[in-house]
Amino acid sequence: MRAFYHPDQALHDPQQYMRFGKVVAPKDLPERTERLLGALAKHGIAPERPAAHGTDPILKIHDAGFVHFLETVWDRWQKLPAERGPEAWANTFPYWSGRTDESVRPPCRPTGLMGQAGWYLGDLSVPVGEHCWQSTLRSAETAVSAADAVLAGESAVYALCRPSGHHARADRASGFCYINNTAVAAQRLRSKFGKVAILDVDAHHGDGTQQIFYRRDDVLTISVHADPTDYYPFFTGYADERGNGPGEGFNLNLPLAHGAGGAAMDAAVDAAGKAIRDFGAEALVVALGYDAHKDDPIGVLKLEASDFGTIGKKVKAFGLPTLVVQEGGYAIEAIGDCLDAFLGGFK
Ligand code: ZN
Repeated sequence: MRAFYHPDQALHDPQQYMRFGKVVAPKDLPERTERLLGALAKHGIAPERPAAHGTDPILKIHDAGFVHFLETVWDRWQKLPAERGPEAWANTFPYWSGRTDESVRPPCRPTGLMGQAGWYLGDLSVPVGEHCWQSTLRSAETAVSAADAVLAGESAVYALCRPSGHHARADRASGFCYINNTAVAAQRLRSKFGKVAILDVDAHHGDGTQQIFYRRDDVLTISVHADPTDYYPFFTGYADERGNGPGEGFNLNLPLAHGAGGAAMDAAVDAAGKAIRDFGAEALVVALGYDAHKDDPIGVLKLEASDFGTIGKKVKAFGLPTLVVQEGGYAIEAIGDCLDAFLGGFK
């Protein structure tokens, strides 16, 4: 399997994260990339550097005002009074319906920094520090170059993306995610493949990916995740969210009970496989997170590392050109083993 990665992705080093009403140390540590690179090395995979694609592929998915905000917010933040925090961080949030059928909100009306921060940074897990945009752009470019390799005929490619992307909506960052790498890559694959399926396997619902494609019938979105009734992202990820308008029937949520392990995951991936076959997918994007591992510091599922091997085996059996995009996973000691197992199962 070929893989892509850019070392700039390790520059992003968030300092703040709000959990249970307290500012705590962030979970998306730069060291995550080292652990994942170590797993690739065990399989003899030397990742290639992505090309400099710039923002054009991103703007096929994301709102231009949002992308411009992410590009410029750090410099604007430096002009705030001296008592400002170490990173751009929002402190007010607009009321918005959050309806799954609304793909993009109305244009952002505030012109000032704090109003725009509240509009575009959807929660307190997406501070924007000095290198955030650089890492985010490289992460998206990694997904795009990996998609290009699939377009050129590779049967399976891995994109080591950091920061992750699946919580990023068309016009809003959230959940450690700024740009939706998985969605950008799936859109790229559509230039050749008429029908693309996305299988999101992560402890958290892929809410951004769902929102982006919710009204489309050319991209099937499936998410396997922990029950959101008492778990992030709370407001979406329910089984009755099936798509809207032309997208009706092209979104499938498979929530798992908290505490579920490998057997429940296997059944969900089997159900996903049936949906992918019924859809007639010509290519597959797997949004793969390891926070379903039992040791994850913010996880509620109980998978063993070896269970990711079973997922890899099942995904391989789908028999489709496959792009694997890295999403979450925060147990530093376990994530390398999870990727190692996935790659071993996929062989
Ligand atoms: Zn996650």
